[in-house]
Amino acid sequence: MVGKVLLTGGAGYIGSHTFVALQDAGYDPVILDDFSNAKKSVLDRIKLICQRSEIECHQVDVRDSDAIFEILNQGGFVAAVHFAAKKAVGESVEKPLDYIDINCTGLLSLLKAMERAEVFNLVFSSSATVYGDQEIIPIPETATRSYASPYAFTKLMGEQILEQVGDADPRWSFGTLRYFNPAGAHASGMIGEDPADIPNNLMPYIAKVATGEFEHLSVFGDTYNTHDGTGVRDYIHVMDLADAHVKSLKTLQKNSISHAINIGTGTGYSVLDMLAAYGRAVGKTLPHKIAPRRDGDVDTLLGEVEKAEEVIGFKTRYDLDEICASSWHWINTGAFQAAKEDNS
Ligand code: UDP
Repeated sequence: MVGKVLLTGGAGYIGSHTFVALQDAGYDPVILDDFSNAKKSVLDRIKLICQRSEIECHQVDVRDSDAIFEILNQGGFVAAVHFAAKKAVGESVEKPLDYIDINCTGLLSLLKAMERAEVFNLVFSSSATVYGDQEIIPIPETATRSYASPYAFTKLMGEQILEQVGDADPRWSFGTLRYFNPAGAHASGMIGEDPADIPNNLMPYIAKVATGEFEHLSVFGDTYNTHDGTGVRDYIHVMDLADAHVKSLKTLQKNSISHAINIGTGTGYSVLDMLAAYGRAVGKTLPHKIAPRRDGDVDTLLGEVEKAEEVIGFKTRYDLDEICASSWHWINTGAFQAAKEDNS
């Protein structure tokens, strides 16, 4: 083992996949999660994938700095990866205080605990949402940052907190990863995005159309300035995203230089492209209806990806069909099994 890594929000969608990727890379991941948006049964399924009889998991609120310190102070930690946060843009508009509290206070609480325990490497889950509404596509990392929702505000503030702390104290190294649109699931079909959540995002919604739970997909607008009029995004396989965390962490350990980089594929697909690709995975045409535009949506959201390759040696491995096939496999096996376990 190369050392322990604390994963706040480690039982969640991206956290659980990053657990597997870190373990594959020889690290010993430790989960901290309050299970406000994750199921306990995910731990058993991670154990099956990783062929471990036990994994260390602490049910702790990320704002409890003393509790985090107690965990880190056990020793052996080389870093933390900070996923624990609230992430629904629409909800953040209704509950800005909750978002600022959990996302910003949570980050401060973790940083204070890390400083006390003298663990100075942190990989931070940021988001392409910190770019606001950009004219220049693909977006370079040097683009001006802004925010269009309280959620985006908390991610931008998180980045700025890390910049201030890193500038003031050279012991810190931060890997800030600006995610584009994560999708798909681990190839085992044992972990994935929890379909029990009310989906705000495209992929879980399409999955529910595929299972027949929803009658059709509402396509939010078909008059955007894109090849078929529907919104274009960069969908990245969650296992690629997980690998980006491993590469970011290894880079911090090697050179101690903070980085802030886009994590995407650099290729955009429209809503209708996504629906067709998912249909190929399922083996049938999935129905849709054109609906009004959703507030705050933009035509195209795509980032430059060269910096990720230059700085942390990251390149994506999976294509769109693999994303959809893995999602469908998860929906039919792991998700189904998990729902049974959680209700029993
Ligand atoms: N979208 C859609 N129907 C849905 C959910 C999303 O047409 O039920 C569209 C949305 O307008 C956007 C794209 O799918 O163009 C991706 O949306 P998502 O919420 O997944 O990601 P984000 O907009 O945050 O990048």
